[in-house]
Amino acid sequence: MPASAVILVPLLVCALFTAALYEQWRRMGRADHASSWLWAFLVTGGGWLVTGLESALAARFVFPGSALLLCWFAASLLGARGLRQRAQKPDRAIVLFAIWVGTTIGVSVLQDLAIEDPVLRSAMAMVVIASGAMIAGIAIGPRSRRASASAWLGALINVAFAALCLMLAFAVLRLPMTAMMEITSLTLVPLIVLCGVTIMACLNEDRAQGLERLARTDALTGVWNRRGFEEGARHLLQRFHATGGRAAAVAIADIDGFKGINDNHGHAMGDATLARFAETLRGVVGPGDMLARLGGEEFAILAIGIDGPALRQRMERVRSLLNVPSIDPNGPPTITASFGVTTLATDGSLREALERADRALYRAKSDGRNRVLLAETGGE
Ligand code: GH3
Ligand code: MG
Ligand code: MG
Repeated sequence: MPASAVILVPLLVCALFTAALYEQWRRMGRADHASSWLWAFLVTGGGWLVTGLESALAARFVFPGSALLLCWFAASLLGARGLRQRAQKPDRAIVLFAIWVGTTIGVSVLQDLAIEDPVLRSAMAMVVIASGAMIAGIAIGPRSRRASASAWLGALINVAFAALCLMLAFAVLRLPMTAMMEITSLTLVPLIVLCGVTIMACLNEDRAQGLERLARTDALTGVWNRRGFEEGARHLLQRFHATGGRAAAVAIADIDGFKGINDNHGHAMGDATLARFAETLRGVVGPGDMLARLGGEEFAILAIGIDGPALRQRMERVRSLLNVPSIDPNGPPTITASFGVTTLATDGSLREALERADRALYRAKSDGRNRVLLAETGGE
């Protein structure tokens, strides 16, 4: 293979994928990520060109440090994505930090090794890349059998690539230098392609998940909407009962005289009142529970692991929190709310429980509002 092809092929493939990733990020409205990919390519592509030309001019092999930089960049990006998913915290700072750490460690380790023999240095470089790919593979790896296709794809690609690099590390110790140069170039191309494909698959999945979540979320308050609640609650209860869980409870909360707030303070203040009410409810909802806006100023809570009386106490807390006047004179007015609560029987349906809670809420309203009523299971 001519030296110019060795220099240009990875460069072109890298450019192609950087352009594709740039376009993906741009379409997702993330101009910051798009530009970071562009810069990553410009820096690594420029470095690759310089080392490539140096190799060609000196007619000797110089291991392209920029290729390593690119590998580390891709591997740490994938790794950071995996860590971010595991922590369920979409924190961009972690991603950038991991990329920085990964790149710095990878490059400095090789520089510090200062091994004179280029064959040995190339072999060690392959081992470094292999470990990076392996770490990325484990970090992004699926957590359960039912994990998404892109999680499996990402892990598989990284582990396969790591194995390939390790095989190459053994090969370079036995093959002549020119063959090594071609092999390095040939491995780099699939790496860039595979990393590109994986990241794009992950991005697409992210977008699909984002849209799906949007369809199940209430835009005003950020809690689940009715559809999200019904589907999520069904899955939650199935899992809960399957693991032997017994106690669960449902509450429906409704703001008192909400129409009056709209009429007297305007629709915008009505919206702010709804958002604040949702925020107050969120404060008493456990991490495994569900909070949803069923419609208008009516909210539902599904609490796992506690029964009706315990959930009634939590709703009483909400009621007392609503009593505290706002310190902001321009903030939403003080409100009261009524609540219907019921225990969800192990063999009972969610729909039945919601109907019972709704009847209890109706009674709370007709008894004079601003109260929490508990419906007894099997007759109120
Ligand atoms: P009650 O004490 O019996 O619950 O009376 P209420 O006024 O709270 O209930 P009603 O059902 O009569 O009025 C609900 C009002 O909620 C009517 C509707 O205009 C208003 N509403 C529904 N959705 C929204 C919304 O998204 N934003 C605002 N600002 N108002 C909404
Ligand atoms: Mg109301
Ligand atoms: Mg209502």
